[in-house]
Amino acid sequence: MPLLVMKFGGTSVADLDRIANAAEKVKREVERGYDVIVIVSAMSGKTNELVGWVETTSHLYDAREYDAVVASGENVTAGLMALRLQEMGVPARSWQGWQVPINTTSAHSSARFVSIPRENIDAKFEEGFKVAVVAGFQGLSEEGRITTLGRGGSDTTAVAFAAAFGAERCDIYTDVDGVYTTDPRITSKARKLDKIAFEEMLELASLGAKVLQTRSVELAMRYKVRLRVLSSFEETDENSGTLVCDEEDIMESKAVSGVAYSRDEAKITLVTVEDRPGIAAGIFGPLAEAGINVDMIVQNISEKNYEGHTMAVTDMTFSCPTNQVARARKALEDARAAGTIVYDDLVVDTEVAKVSVVGIGMRSQSGVASRMFAALAAENINIKVIATSEIKVSVLIDRKYMELAVQALHDAFELEKV
Ligand code: ADP
Ligand code: ASP
Ligand code: MG
Repeated sequence: MPLLVMKFGGTSVADLDRIANAAEKVKREVERGYDVIVIVSAMSGKTNELVGWVETTSHLYDAREYDAVVASGENVTAGLMALRLQEMGVPARSWQGWQVPINTTSAHSSARFVSIPRENIDAKFEEGFKVAVVAGFQGLSEEGRITTLGRGGSDTTAVAFAAAFGAERCDIYTDVDGVYTTDPRITSKARKLDKIAFEEMLELASLGAKVLQTRSVELAMRYKVRLRVLSSFEETDENSGTLVCDEEDIMESKAVSGVAYSRDEAKITLVTVEDRPGIAAGIFGPLAEAGINVDMIVQNISEKNYEGHTMAVTDMTFSCPTNQVARARKALEDARAAGTIVYDDLVVDTEVAKVSVVGIGMRSQSGVASRMFAALAAENINIKVIATSEIKVSVLIDRKYMELAVQALHDAFELEKV
């Protein structure tokens, strides 16, 4: 029997009516002759609420208990979706992560898949069940504890199941009808793309476009999963939405094909760090051990004979997600107390955002960075940190200018035009 994976995100299962709407879409595919694995998210807002409860209860919380709490949102929607399908006459069964079992690493709140054995679900299909509804975002660690895969992780669950079960396609149903040149909530000029290359989608996702979780794109690329993003609120067919595909399958080669942003960035500066070999390792080693996702890094020119210091000093700046600032600060203060690093002050700016332009065309076309800086300058937006790679340019700016910057860049690179 051919098999499809259909994933419904938070807004697509936000209430009982929407679950019923999603179930209709599943039923239609069953009627077309597919066995279906449905991956569900928690109802929209639920995961945020659960995270809030954890953070209010415990500031530097135990990640195992965080996972135990935040994984629960998906359990509710999985059961409800199975019930709804049964009411419609579709034989369906729900699965929590541990029941499959979805085996993951023990990296709580950012676990990675180890294996997804097929036996239990296959046995149910053989019994005559047509749909397996699986709770997204969660798994089971080697120690037998519940894990989660990081925010937006249900996308990754969907792709992993598509790979494990050899699905014909992995359809990601969400509240937009595809992948756009930028978040359509920021500018009405955003244009829907029929296709996007894996590499570009990977960059956009990792730079903040939350329409797909980064890891889901990585897995789809590695296991050659046909991955599609489409609307759960509109009528859809085989041609709807955006197909994420190989670079060779795309004709156009604009320098920039998308603009991404990440709102929740913080900039941390270690002021007057004693500059000697091993200093970067002394700073970023403890941060890595504390699980901080350090992104951009800038080291200033070092200054000699600075007052009160026996060696040259420098300032070191890096960015990380705002919700990791407390942990980062603790890791650095502990390293300073242990004498591994010496610095005068630690300055945190939590009011910054990252805006990036992405495009595989950048490999062959020059001048993207200067065009980007000119567009931002024309809006009087000051750039605090810059980072580039082969197919992206990112800048850190004051958060209050984030929307303006995205709009200005979308205009500057003429992304509304095909
Ligand atoms: P779900 O709950 O279905 O997983 P998400 O909220 O995680 O949905 O992702 C969908 C959202 O991603 C859209 O509502 C949109 O605001 C946002 N988004 C950001 N960048 C893009 C983009 N380039 N194209 C489409 N949507 C985007
Ligand atoms: N519910 C989880 C989240 O909000 C996972 C997901 O929806 O993909 O992050
Ligand atoms: Mg999502």
